[in-house]
Amino acid sequence: MKAFWDPIQLTHQPVFFLQRGQLRQNFEVPARAEALLVACREMGLSITMPANLTNSALTAVHSAEYLDFLRTGPSAWAKMADHGPELVANIHPSPEMLANGARPSATIVGQTGWFTADTSCPVGPHTWQASLAAACGAIAAADEAAAGRTAYALARPPGHHAYAARAGGHCYLNNAALAAQRLRARGAGRVAVLDIDSHHGNGTQGIFWERPDVFFASLHGDPNAYYPWYVGHADERGGGDGIGCTLNLPLRQGSGDDVWLAALDHAIEEIRRFGADALVVSLGFDASEHEPLRFLSVTQEGFARAAAAIGATRLPAAIIQEGGYNTNVIGALLKRFLNAL
Ligand SMILES: [Zn+2]
Repeated sequence: MKAFWDPIQLTHQPVFFLQRGQLRQNFEVPARAEALLVACREMGLSITMPANLTNSALTAVHSAEYLDFLRTGPSAWAKMADHGPELVANIHPSPEMLANGARPSATIVGQTGWFTADTSCPVGPHTWQASLAAACGAIAAADEAAAGRTAYALARPPGHHAYAARAGGHCYLNNAALAAQRLRARGAGRVAVLDIDSHHGNGTQGIFWERPDVFFASLHGDPNAYYPWYVGHADERGGGDGIGCTLNLPLRQGSGDDVWLAALDHAIEEIRRFGADALVVSLGFDASEHEPLRFLSVTQEGFARAAAAIGATRLPAAIIQEGGYNTNVIGALLKRFLNAL
């Protein structure tokens, strides 16, 4: 199996992170990727540098204005007097402003609030090149899946909280959505995105909300008590032509293997019913019982059983790395998962 990875992904080193009103060290660190890379090497995966993308592969999912912001924002930020090291928003357009005709700002401070959802996605001088490389890996994994071969993208920074034109929750480019779109472009009639990260994949849901050709299924911590707080409820089923093509399975705090795997079986059953030709898996390990900000409580064995259930679908899959922040366990979890797949 190929594992797509580019060392430039290590250059994104976010610092800023706010938690319960306190400034903390950001935990989406390069050491996460290093731990996963060691596991890939130990498994004997073919670690492959992805090819560069054409711009149209990105704009199939993301707006050109948003891509420009990620690419050029840091240099505009650096020209301001007395600026911090990373772009972090101190204002976002509120729903009331949007209802009254709010529009994008010409200034970098205004743009940062416009193009970010929260304070957990600081944009640094190397964020663009690292995000782009992660996206290239996801698209390369999709190309493998389009040829009938399951592949893994060691995507870091992760992607599933990023919308078409908004970063959030450590995510900038939506790697899973780019992979799903690529599979459609490469001939898959129907694609399913199965998101097993412990957080709701709100960005992916938003991107495919009205799409009848991409099914989005997510099992995650109940948003009433967990990021992203406002979406991920069971009654969100898609809109327009996409009604019925979104499936959310929110789980109570502390849910372990049995509850999590039952939700996974439900999601797989719906994906089968949808008639997907190919699969994109948003693979987060933050449902682990050993996660620092733990909400769910899934064991190593649970992740292996999940992989076996996903493998039993016999669908070619692009496996896209999302979260998982305990660098002492995510390598072992990746090995259990991919070996069981
Ligand atoms: Zn997560």
